[in-house]
Amino acid sequence: MEELISKAAEDLARASHAVALTGAGISTESGVPDFRGPDGIWTKNPEMEKKAYQTYHTFLKDPVAYWKETLKNPFRKTLLAVRPNPGHYALAELERTGAIKAVISQNVDNLHRKAGSQRILEYHGSVDKLRCLSCGLRHNRGGL
Ligand SMILES: [Zn+2]
Repeated sequence: MEELISKAAEDLARASHAVALTGAGISTESGVPDFRGPDGIWTKNPEMEKKAYQTYHTFLKDPVAYWKETLKNPFRKTLLAVRPNPGHYALAELERTGAIKAVISQNVDNLHRKAGSQRILEYHGSVDKLRCLSCGLRHNRGGL
């Protein structure tokens, strides 16, 4: 393991445009459950995975019903309450020192931003932001 860490550090030091790519694994230590791990949300309840893929269509069909369901979802409350862990802070520090240029994440938990990362590409969106379907603008959720 030490050898792999040394090799990663050498590669990072030599890179001219390094980025960090993160997924659910970085946030499990913060208490955010992953989806497909041994205790993952979808591993334990495969019906939840099917339901997740239908969410967007449910929203388009009946936005009021979608929001009523979403606002009482306990997973959403977990995402709003969790705090960054040393992994998130380490990536923020690597960005501050210039060792990485950005974080690209599939996570929606906003923990990279809470840890201080500035350049974050959240390709599944963020629990903290909404996008207007009419004009495409992103808005802060404001604690919703
Ligand atoms: Zn708009």
